[in-house]
Amino acid sequence: MKAVVYNGPRDVSVKDVPDAKIERPTDVLVKITSTNICGSDLHMYEGRTNFEKGRVFGHENLGKVVEIGSAVDRIKIGDMVCLPFNIGCGFCRNCESGLTAFCLTVNPDPKMAGAAYGFAGMGPFNGGQAEYLRVPYGDFNCLKLPEDALEKEDDYVMVSDIFPTGWHATELAGVQPSDSVVVYGAGPVGLMAAYSATLKNASQVMIVDRHPDRLRLAEQIGVIPIDDSKSDPVEQVLAMTNGRGADKGCECVGYQAHDPQGHEHPNMTMNNLVKSVKFTGGIGVVGIFLPQDPGGPDQLSKQGEIPFDMGLFWIKGQHIGTGQANVKDYNRQLRDLIHADKAKPSFIVSHRLPLDKASEAYQHFDARDDGWTKVVLKSSHTP
Ligand code: NAD
Ligand code: ZN
Repeated sequence: MKAVVYNGPRDVSVKDVPDAKIERPTDVLVKITSTNICGSDLHMYEGRTNFEKGRVFGHENLGKVVEIGSAVDRIKIGDMVCLPFNIGCGFCRNCESGLTAFCLTVNPDPKMAGAAYGFAGMGPFNGGQAEYLRVPYGDFNCLKLPEDALEKEDDYVMVSDIFPTGWHATELAGVQPSDSVVVYGAGPVGLMAAYSATLKNASQVMIVDRHPDRLRLAEQIGVIPIDDSKSDPVEQVLAMTNGRGADKGCECVGYQAHDPQGHEHPNMTMNNLVKSVKFTGGIGVVGIFLPQDPGGPDQLSKQGEIPFDMGLFWIKGQHIGTGQANVKDYNRQLRDLIHADKAKPSFIVSHRLPLDKASEAYQHFDARDDGWTKVVLKSSHTP
């Protein structure tokens, strides 16, 4: 089958690889129809993780079930399904508590909790930027889609990762109706966090970035754009919140945060959030931070550490929540909002391209070229 293979830093190509297949009786085999490129892929694409050469990318997957293992009950051949980027077993202590991003059994590395498709450090599973995907524990991991699956495919595919992840940022921050919320990063995840805050009836949602196209998209959904290349974003947030700061804040950038000139400062968004959020406010961090970053800009960051404004954070009595999103905790609800026409996350899609065009899509999305907000690769058009 054809798949997007990582050859090394900033080098991917579509190659023939061995077909994905049923390996265990609980597996489901999915013919992929839509698979997105994610900001998380870019950390790997840029060579800033230990992602192994030769592996297949792709953790935001949707498609049609073409084969089921002998122990699969619920999922049937022909079902259209959306796959959470996390792979859970369904029976460990964490999965049972809804913490499927921290599954204790699927990742063979005993020091790690959590597994995902085509993801550095998250187990040996290949990704779905390919014609077929093997889904372990298919009954547990497949989200069945309703009859409008084809018509709303670009919406439903966002339920694999970025829509629940944006939602998760607002959950970690504790967003309530009427809150004011500031989001750092207007990439796909930040836009989904801002969108989620809006769906939760926040009274004021602000988003910080410097890419005009991304800020324009935010404006289209009623979010206040804050351009940090024009002036200090913290001052802008304080000015809009009577000097007090936002009630809640979301970090949607991660360890490759940089200034508008492009210099990396891994602590930049974290410290800006402490300053932008009010006393006793909450902060949700879904942007990725890594325990080691050999390519980091200084000695501390190479060891996964950042100079954090602990004193101000403590004095302000803030709280913080972090980590990968437990997609299964939200994906049914978000699917149902899409089905009921109450949510349309596909507003962020800028490009729909055949799988064959993956290499150039990665280049443009990685450069954050104007207008390249979110790429959906269409792996197959005969579901
Ligand atoms: P992206 O790289 O497309 O977007 C990041 C945005 O942040 C860019 O628009 C960039 O201009 C902006 N930015 C950079 N530095 C900034 C700063 N100092 N202040 C404000 N904005 C700044 O990526 P994405 O797809 O939106 O993903 C964002 C992060 O979320 C990544 O780290 C990704 O790995 C992570 N992620 C986490 C989860 C999870 O489960 N926790 C899931 C998906 C993605
Ligand atoms: Zn993703």
